[in-house]
Amino acid sequence: MYIDTHLHLDEPWLTDEKLRQKTIQDITENKIVTWAQACDLSGYQKIIEWSKMSEYIFPSFGILPWYANEWMDKLDEVARYCEDAIMFGEIGLDEGSSRNTASKKEQEALFEVFLEVAEKNNMIMNCHFRGGLEERGLELLNSYEIKKGIFHHYSGPPKMIEKINDNGHYISYGSSKYVNISKALKGYLAKRVPKVNDDFLIIEIDVLHREEDYKPPSAVIPKILEVLAEAKKTTSEEIETMNQRNVLRMIGDDPKLKEMRDLLS
Ligand SMILES: [Zn+2]
Repeated sequence: MYIDTHLHLDEPWLTDEKLRQKTIQDITENKIVTWAQACDLSGYQKIIEWSKMSEYIFPSFGILPWYANEWMDKLDEVARYCEDAIMFGEIGLDEGSSRNTASKKEQEALFEVFLEVAEKNNMIMNCHFRGGLEERGLELLNSYEIKKGIFHHYSGPPKMIEKINDNGHYISYGSSKYVNISKALKGYLAKRVPKVNDDFLIIEIDVLHREEDYKPPSAVIPKILEVLAEAKKTTSEEIETMNQRNVLRMIGDDPKLKEMRDLLS
């Protein structure tokens, strides 16, 4: 059974309602356990509604670091939503893509709201660390007792991968760009994917192509497995098994993830 640990069903990446419905239908028909990522509170509320349309879609609560400044006087509200969420993402640190580039302090304050609840309830955290803040992200995860941290499409220095895994954190790779993969992306993956420990590699789609390049998740995932298998010098089946094994370990005996566990076992 396919598992996609990071997908955006909402704006600004999936704006066409017809494509969204096609995606939800594809996920259901092909039984793809999908962790739908939220970029902010209004997106999260939409994702909750869409997740009711398919037993395979699970909503994740997150606010992208780019929007951190807007949430400084509403951190209590964020904390209340955190208590009800079943998992977290997409959250993290990223000054480079931020609307307000000098927002590291605010980004950390927002991220720490999620860290506190994740530590208390032992929750999955789908983290976006970019622009040189990967090391700081690792420090923050380690300053709390986070056992299910994910470095989503890790893009920092390859030499840090071993340290991330040694500290018990997962790394996800995958993209709809892998369908027609460029030489540059292949080279980028060749430097990183082989370094990921088999016990910590998971897969994701992240963003689906729009309009004429659109391919549903069931067509994208086999290509992702193939690309990662080539990078890791193994088979697609082995990557899929790795993904299932690692995701099941993260789900563990979390009562909030019982429905997901039942689908996978
Ligand atoms: Zn994402």
